[in-house]
Amino acid sequence: MVSNPRDPSVVIIGAGMTGISMVIKLRKAGISNITVLEKKEKIGGTWRENTYPGVACDVPAHMYTFSFEPNPNWSHFFAHGDEIQKYFEHVVEKYDVKRSIHFSEAVTDARYKDGKWLVTSSKDKTYEADFVVSATGILHHPAFPDIDGINDFKGEMFHTAQWNHDVIIEEGKSVGVIGTGSTAAQAIPELIKTGADVTVFQRTPQWILPVKNFSYSNTTKKLMNKFPLLPKLTNKFSVFVMQHLFTKAVTGHFLQKKFLEICCKANLYFAVKDKVLRTKLRPNYQVGCKRVVINKTFYEGIQKANAHLTTEGIDKITEKGVLTKDGKLHKLDVLVLSTGFHPFNFMRPMNLVGRDELHIEDAWSDHILAYRSLMLPKYPNFFLMLGPYTPIGNFSVIAMSEVQADYIIKIVDEWRKGRYDEVEAKVEAVNDFSVYVKAGLKKTAWVGGCKSWYLDSDGDPVLWPYTWNRWVQEMKEPQFQDMHLEKLSSVDQKKVA
Ligand code: NAP
Repeated sequence: MVSNPRDPSVVIIGAGMTGISMVIKLRKAGISNITVLEKKEKIGGTWRENTYPGVACDVPAHMYTFSFEPNPNWSHFFAHGDEIQKYFEHVVEKYDVKRSIHFSEAVTDARYKDGKWLVTSSKDKTYEADFVVSATGILHHPAFPDIDGINDFKGEMFHTAQWNHDVIIEEGKSVGVIGTGSTAAQAIPELIKTGADVTVFQRTPQWILPVKNFSYSNTTKKLMNKFPLLPKLTNKFSVFVMQHLFTKAVTGHFLQKKFLEICCKANLYFAVKDKVLRTKLRPNYQVGCKRVVINKTFYEGIQKANAHLTTEGIDKITEKGVLTKDGKLHKLDVLVLSTGFHPFNFMRPMNLVGRDELHIEDAWSDHILAYRSLMLPKYPNFFLMLGPYTPIGNFSVIAMSEVQADYIIKIVDEWRKGRYDEVEAKVEAVNDFSVYVKAGLKKTAWVGGCKSWYLDSDGDPVLWPYTWNRWVQEMKEPQFQDMHLEKLSSVDQKKVA
């Protein structure tokens, strides 16, 4: 152990769950010079932004929890959005994270110059840093559908990630929803409950796995408080089920895949009584090809008298509503766009400029790639959390970001010991990593004949195709032979690894 390790300055972009845990873990490792630049006025990322009716996490609550801050008080098996937001606010308060955060400062530009990062914010301030960690999350740029006439609509229209709570939705109103993904499946039943007339415009049906969102009783919560091992065991059990059932089902394991398929098909068969409606709701692609929707309320809701499923396809949007391809005009007061996100923006639209003036748009002009999802050649001392090929899907993003944070800290530790000043991934290592993940993708459900937000512009999934355990194992220790480590003091010094 080096007695007086160097204390690096670190800029973290984003104060969502990933940025928050990064701050806590960096401080625990003894790093104190941390600046978090957050574009909004509050922490929380996804859970601050998404406030649509029914918003909840479809990953079990005790699994969607920081390992260092278990929460024995989760009210439900799947936590509601506002409860998750409150949990993050509690963590931020308890670990005094706010003192590192600069709110309402979006990063507009970050460039590497003479061994330092210069990070400029929307307030025209520039921060100098030894390391930059991008913790901007994945699904934070709403995608608006490119439908003819969309701007002609005279009623209220908004995206689910920008819910307009001033608009009252109640009996007597006509509401249209475009989209049937995980978000829509949560929001639509809540809209139907208001008594409004709800028309769902479905382009592609979804496979739905029914899991009831039961509430934890007071006795259970008391027991969880009394025996701290209980929430940890609940988490371990959820992780076990997710990795041995869910993850394996979508990554080419026959039995798990069959089991998931039977569950989803049986759900459709038993939950939807009307044959015509059932046919409309039956996907024609493999289970798991799109992210499986975990939901117990959508099928029930869509069968109510005030709900209508339209599958004719949208021709255009007019000032009065949605005109479908069968020539029918669906007159609407409110149009909800549950049309997903641009998943591959990551830290963009900021200007990210690495060594030799390499702009991120040029670095990623062919493919979005990063070594182990985290590091990019020519971007020294820069880490992209939840980057391409992170095992997202139906697993806990919190668990993923913690694994990545620990990995990053191990690399930064070597800087502190003076082993290097600059670290970046070797081009060959990025290419090898790409070949390695692509080999595994062939047998996954994601290439099973559907379009989804998992796919890049070439139609290739940008997800980790192997098991969760394998990923955790491979992320245990950094492989420094895959990185260029440079000492800046002596220009001609050979690369260390
Ligand atoms: P999504 O899964 O990308 O779904 C978007 C929906 O909009 C799809 O049904 C899509 O139809 C439809 N759509 C898009 N453009 C359209 C157009 N021009 N015309 C007609 N339909 C159109 O988005 P999402 O539901 O917001 O979910 C995204 C991800 O967010 C999820 O997969 C999940 O990872 C995350 N999420 C998580 C939770 C959670 O509980 N953890 C909850 C909600 C969301 P096609 O299928 O035909 O493209």
